[in-house]
Amino acid sequence: MERVFKGIAVSPGIAIGEVFILDDQRRRIPKRAIPLAQLPGEHERLDKALQASIAELSVLRERTDKELGAEAAKIFAFHLGMLADPTLTRPMHALIDSETTTAEYAASTAMQQLAERFAGFRDAAFKTKVDDIHDLSMRVLKNLIGEHTSKLSKLDHRAVVIARDLTPSQAAAFNRSHVQAFVTEFGGKTGHTGIFARAMGIPAVVGSTGIREQVSEGDTVIVDGDSGTIILDPDQKTLATYKGWQERRRLFQISLRELKDLPCVTVDGTPIDLQGNIEFADEITQVIEAGGNGVGLYRTEFLYLTAESEPTEEQHYAAYAECVKLLDGRPLTIRTMDLGADKYTQEQERSENPERNPMLGCRSIRYCLQNLPMFKRQLRAILRAAAIRPGTVRVMFPLVTTPEEFRRAKFFLNDVMEDLRDEGHPVDPTVKVGMMVEVPAAALCAESFAGQSDFFSIGTNDLVQYTLAVDRTNELVAGMYNPASQAVIKLLRMTVDAAKTARIPVSCCGETAGELEYTMMLLGIGLRTLSANSGSLPALKRLIRSVTIEQCEQVAKKAISIDSDGAVASYLRDVTRKIMPEAFDGRSAEG
Ligand code: PEP
Ligand code: MG
Repeated sequence: MERVFKGIAVSPGIAIGEVFILDDQRRRIPKRAIPLAQLPGEHERLDKALQASIAELSVLRERTDKELGAEAAKIFAFHLGMLADPTLTRPMHALIDSETTTAEYAASTAMQQLAERFAGFRDAAFKTKVDDIHDLSMRVLKNLIGEHTSKLSKLDHRAVVIARDLTPSQAAAFNRSHVQAFVTEFGGKTGHTGIFARAMGIPAVVGSTGIREQVSEGDTVIVDGDSGTIILDPDQKTLATYKGWQERRRLFQISLRELKDLPCVTVDGTPIDLQGNIEFADEITQVIEAGGNGVGLYRTEFLYLTAESEPTEEQHYAAYAECVKLLDGRPLTIRTMDLGADKYTQEQERSENPERNPMLGCRSIRYCLQNLPMFKRQLRAILRAAAIRPGTVRVMFPLVTTPEEFRRAKFFLNDVMEDLRDEGHPVDPTVKVGMMVEVPAAALCAESFAGQSDFFSIGTNDLVQYTLAVDRTNELVAGMYNPASQAVIKLLRMTVDAAKTARIPVSCCGETAGELEYTMMLLGIGLRTLSANSGSLPALKRLIRSVTIEQCEQVAKKAISIDSDGAVASYLRDVTRKIMPEAFDGRSAEG
């Protein structure tokens, strides 16, 4: 029977496909047969993982004992005792041989069997041990195969991925041609699941609490990334309706192709510069195909997220040089890495000391300024790539909060430039250095930043989060995440005005820049450069070519005069739907 779930729409489009469930850490490890000759290697891997787990647990026990007392440390003593107990480890080794299988399958099966035995006891004290065994199992598996990526790499057909949560490193591990849509139980509007899905051009819905309990692998599912609806086992009538909308969307996309070589100008002839946001160099082809005039935001942290360890200078350089080559003279804004908050490397995810409040923690430029050798490796690579085609590459620092921080970042950039020069590398001394305006402090002091920055790029994803104190990845407060709030609009205007006064370029590269309903407001407050994922560029161009600047100014003026944030959002949506109904599959505002 058809069942309908709601979530938060984070990437548009409709997918109709088969469910693929991505378990979290408590997953089943698939059984994989391996050649007999590899068995000794599996025993060795298992021993190493057990030893590594024992070492981690000993440190934890000691620290807990010191900080929280002997009682709290007992839990780790229990874990350690289990790992030292041959009645647990012997069956693991035995399974490798009897099943000719991998160390991870043997370890997870033995742990699972033990957990089931404990669960079967009447005594509640034994039952509570089941969770401990799962914890222990996760630790051993982490030391065998890394935290998250194993099942993903086994996805070998096109399917709708349903997960509890999806970290950027998991998303990055997918074979991109196999994923039709994402659905997660956690997450908010501008978290990185959505950014990834948009970059891949597939629909995604996040924050659909409890859905994993209700689905089975292979079920038919419809994911509506426009309205945030997920329909399991749809009946024939629903399927037909969605197929109809899918077809309209397909035709709309085809109709957009004719715009590719037309200029991006408003009806009154004002040119608007549309650029693309990318996570990987190979997305540049799509950006250009979609009519983008360069890259306004290269999120270089994905170089770190897709690797097990920090990229070398040469790996950075290879990626940036590839971008310069593909762009062939078009502009490229390389943002230095923005790790932390909701973007963790596998290594950071495994850390025993997660930050208590990572959104306000050591992320982005703060992290770079605390890890200078790593920061300088990236800066060297960027500057070397910038010298390939002088005048095309710009460097941008994320999450700049204070002028001192910006000056320090620039100081290290200059330092690196000197080193490169001394080493005989060509450099472009005129390379432009700018900053993201994505912290309210930066927008409020935009005037003073404008005096020392070559350009601004407004990151609305973070600006909204920090202005409204709404975690951009938290489904519980997703309804409060509103780029059309008066406070945010005020900060946008302050930033644009400060840039204009100082005569420096300003653009918007947050997700707001790619969403049609905000376009008229952004142009109306004076923005002339928007950078968005390639999938949204053609529709943006169509809208821009359908309006005048005066119309946009009127829309912005009206929006500013409305004294309810929710009403501003619906006003902007309604105006856009009236001008371009075909962008919404002809569906009603509620559809
Ligand atoms: C932003 O914050 O708007 C932005 C573009 O950066 P990111 O989404 O990568 O944090
Ligand atoms: Mg940001």
